[in-house]
Amino acid sequence: MSRDLFRAPPAPRLAFIGRDLQFPVHRIYCVGRNFADHAKEMGAPVERGTPTIFMKPADAIHRDAALPYPPGTTDLHHEVEMVVALGRDAGGPLSPGEGLALVCGHGVGLDLTRRDLQAIAKDKRLPWDVAKGFDASAPVSALRHVDDGRPGPGAALWLEVNGERRQASTLGEMIFGVDDILVHLSQLFRLRAGDLVFMGTPAGVAALKPGDRYRAVLEGIAELDGRVEG
Ligand code: MN
Repeated sequence: MSRDLFRAPPAPRLAFIGRDLQFPVHRIYCVGRNFADHAKEMGAPVERGTPTIFMKPADAIHRDAALPYPPGTTDLHHEVEMVVALGRDAGGPLSPGEGLALVCGHGVGLDLTRRDLQAIAKDKRLPWDVAKGFDASAPVSALRHVDDGRPGPGAALWLEVNGERRQASTLGEMIFGVDDILVHLSQLFRLRAGDLVFMGTPAGVAALKPGDRYRAVLEGIAELDGRVEG
């Protein structure tokens, strides 16, 4: 076999809380408009219909508490989200009820968004990649293994910025649940161990500025603290 021209970077990895175990990341799927209050604040229709799906590159994962302010935007927005981690391959399209068996852990993350570029993309019917898939656009906590606890529908999801509550909801407010989304994704993609799914954000999205400190919490499961660098 020919040698590689250069050494490929290793897959980004997430830690598991309280376990000597790592999660190598394969893909990052994201669900848009999955909380009615957020769909409303973005001026989008609130409907069950078909889930809105987009992706971020795996190496958008950011694990350092120091978050670089990205280039190309003057309106970086936070979206706090539950992150679901798959520990098994789907092996084909799933039937309703088969999704949860793939899940090996949960965390909390930020679906960081260049809101100014997203607004242009929506206006011109262009793809969202530059608004959603940039470097360090996916800060994620360590994962809670499912054997150590699963979040129920009453679990709170919230984000504080500089000590002030910006976003807060419970998982029961999601329009599509985890099983719904995994079944849907499995009809479009080959779901693999290592895939992450960002499950969508509640209302209250707003700007993060250099110097801001943030704390994201999925109650009883995971926390993520950081600071936006200049
Ligand atoms: Mn989002």
